[in-house]
Amino acid sequence: MPDIIILMGPQGAGKGTQAQMLAEEFSLPIVATGDMLREVAKTETALGHQVKAILESGDLVPDDILAAVINERTSREDCRNGYLLDGFPRTSPQAQLLEKVAERQGHQITVISIDVPRDILFKRLAGRIMCRDNGHVFNTYFKPSATDGFCDIDGSELIKRSDDTEDAIARRLSEYDAKTKPLLNYYADTERLKIVDGTRSPQEVFRDIAQAVGQGV
Ligand code: AMP
Repeated sequence: MPDIIILMGPQGAGKGTQAQMLAEEFSLPIVATGDMLREVAKTETALGHQVKAILESGDLVPDDILAAVINERTSREDCRNGYLLDGFPRTSPQAQLLEKVAERQGHQITVISIDVPRDILFKRLAGRIMCRDNGHVFNTYFKPSATDGFCDIDGSELIKRSDDTEDAIARRLSEYDAKTKPLLNYYADTERLKIVDGTRSPQEVFRDIAQAVGQGV
């Protein structure tokens, strides 16, 4: 079992869903930089305001802010036996930083790339809605809730993420192509990359990932 599992793939590939399933099955904490940055964006500080504006535009947050977030989060006790990375690294400097962090912590890295064609991704993102209370995810195209506008699980209101607008989605997908996709070559060259087909059901994708990390379920 590798110690650090990186879930890579464009937004909408299903990284968050797979991270939750893997975390439960293998008792690993999830380090999701998008979620952490959304928390930072809620704070009434200069950093909070800066991050909020960047998140809404769909641009990437600067690498030095990510370095601080990752160093702090992964040095906590719950990460001692490894962790799942969702949304990090996204740039080459971040990948280099992670090599140093992994070496310092004595962890091996395995990268899972979840592959999904662009047209499906766009619908997954443009249709994505989540409930206000617990973040349960629905989709107006693929998985509508039974009661329009409200969560089937806890009854709270369904809302769109503020960066799931068409402009911001297009921006995020092109950021992925330009800055993050090249990292796949780097991990392939160092023989740490496994590719899974992300168009199938979450359970099928999960089985492939578990097999790829040597823990078939
Ligand atoms: P996510 O929830 O992973 O889709 O991330 C939402 C947003 O957070 C992204 O569009 C970026 O603005 C920012 N973000 C998350 N992770 C990173 C990262 N590793 N580097 C730069 N920006 C990030």
